[in-house]
Amino acid sequence: MTATDLDGLSAVVTGGASGIGLATASLLAERGARVAVLDLDPGAVGEPLLGLAADVTDDASVRAAVEAAAGALGGIDILVNNAGIGAIGTVEDNPDEQWHRVLDVNLLGVVRTTRAALPHLRRSAHASVVNLGSIVVTTGLPQRALYAASKGAVHSLTLAMAADHVREGIRVNCVSPGTVDTPWVGRLLDAADDPAAERAALNARQPHGRLVTAQEVAAAIAYLASPTAASTTGILLQVDGGTANLRLRPEGRR
Ligand code: NAD
Repeated sequence: MTATDLDGLSAVVTGGASGIGLATASLLAERGARVAVLDLDPGAVGEPLLGLAADVTDDASVRAAVEAAAGALGGIDILVNNAGIGAIGTVEDNPDEQWHRVLDVNLLGVVRTTRAALPHLRRSAHASVVNLGSIVVTTGLPQRALYAASKGAVHSLTLAMAADHVREGIRVNCVSPGTVDTPWVGRLLDAADDPAAERAALNARQPHGRLVTAQEVAAAIAYLASPTAASTTGILLQVDGGTANLRLRPEGRR
């Protein structure tokens, strides 16, 4: 992949005003793409990114923003479905309204944005959709019942979409980050009784001993979005420091 492998391509990134989405939008632009960011509040998004207000829970808002992006960018080749929210609790803990809310953003948000973008993706010679999964797709973590259900559904949807659209030349993949140092995780740490101890616990959960960076996730997304990945579809690319697949012995033991 070269610094200009996305030259001439147009990309839409949902939730692109913060964290992984902002790092991704910035990297896609660095690699040569024209990029629109769809977010609740895109006010902080600056040149060369195009910020567009959109709420992925509102179909009309999504359709309007996707059309505005396609018009301004001259089409859509790449869609990154990144907007998402978290939830903490066991299966007993979250009220129905919260289940509906989180599924509305994390799962139906992907549906609405992809549905709106598909007519444009079909016109592209290099169409790629990248969805944001999570370590919780493949690994049971405590206190993440609702969030895990939403991201597991995104993974299954990724596979189904990849099958549905492969013959139209549209690739669909999923990136699965471990715990990433973004404003989201910052908010969780701020809410902890002992933020430093909580950060140390999160670092220790990852075999490589630290949080993943937003730039590392962005690089994986940019790879899957790029025409250099033209034979890669329907995969779950883990960017998690080995959390999902490695089982280490305690430090100092071989
Ligand atoms: P973040 O909170 O820093 O950014 C999320 C962005 O999504 C924000 O700009 C927010 O305004 C936007 N957003 C939220 N609801 C929206 C809506 N209804 N419509 C439009 N935009 C909306 O979060 P992040 O840590 O960068 O996470 C981004 C994605 O990565 C999410 O899908 C998350 O589930 C996933 N992820 C994050 C981590 C992590 O540890 N941070 C790990 C695995 C997966």
